[in-house]
Amino acid sequence: MVDSTKKEAGTSFKPKALHKTAAIIMLSGAFIAGCATKEINSEPTRLYVFDCGAIESRDVSMFSPGVDEGQKKQLVNSCYLIKHAEGMLFWDTGLSDSLPPEGIELWNGAFQLSVTKTLKSQLDEIGVDPLSIDYLGISHFHGDHTGNANYFVNSKVIIQQEEKEAAFGEEAEKFGFSPESYHKLSIDNVQGIEGDHDVFGDGTVIIKRAVGHTPGHQVLWVNLAETGPLLISGDLYHFTKNRTYKRVPSFNFSKPQTLAAFDSIEAYVKETGSTMWIQHDKEQNAEIKHAPDFYQ
Ligand SMILES: [Zn+2]
Repeated sequence: MVDSTKKEAGTSFKPKALHKTAAIIMLSGAFIAGCATKEINSEPTRLYVFDCGAIESRDVSMFSPGVDEGQKKQLVNSCYLIKHAEGMLFWDTGLSDSLPPEGIELWNGAFQLSVTKTLKSQLDEIGVDPLSIDYLGISHFHGDHTGNANYFVNSKVIIQQEEKEAAFGEEAEKFGFSPESYHKLSIDNVQGIEGDHDVFGDGTVIIKRAVGHTPGHQVLWVNLAETGPLLISGDLYHFTKNRTYKRVPSFNFSKPQTLAAFDSIEAYVKETGSTMWIQHDKEQNAEIKHAPDFYQ
């Protein structure tokens, strides 16, 4: 509405006769009123952070080959909701709500996975129905990021083309994916992208290509009015120490691609003055506000 008013005002602003002046003033007034109305009606973009489970690693050196061998490490799992004036984007879906608080073992006990507070209950708390989410961005298709993907059957899924082919191909398990955790998503709703993607078209929410952890791994950049720019890591890094020393987990899809992604994303973070949130980092997450609280 504002756009069309703006266009009208713009095209009318070439007075050929004085009698048009009144119309111009009226149109300008409508334009200004339109802008003011828009400002009042559109709330600033909000970012909610959810507790999407916990992971205990029996031997943290699988994330940092040759370093800290035999040491246990606690990781957290995080999911995010962006409420933008033009729609909602959910980012990563965590460990499955079906996991028990006492946890289950995975990979012969290499990991202990648990969920104490379901994602569904946290969404209920802020009055958001997963069926109403417009877009679902998934950093990559490992099970700790697709655990609740089946809640989002109405969303348009935005992922890198290579991840789409791997996750929806016949050998998804070969990549460490768990197709049963996302089998309700229709491939017709999946948009495979090749590079960065401006989700709402205004430059404030950008999915960024960062392949290497998996064939089509990606991260999310969000610029919030009060909080400023944030880079949400996916599994580019699993914890701060790996970021500091640029360590590549032994189970990554490609080490050279991962190292290239470290460089490109770090350059972007520096250029934009962004804060990086590492999704699995327990210590950093303890300092971050969680839903129902939010950032804006
Ligand atoms: Zn992960």
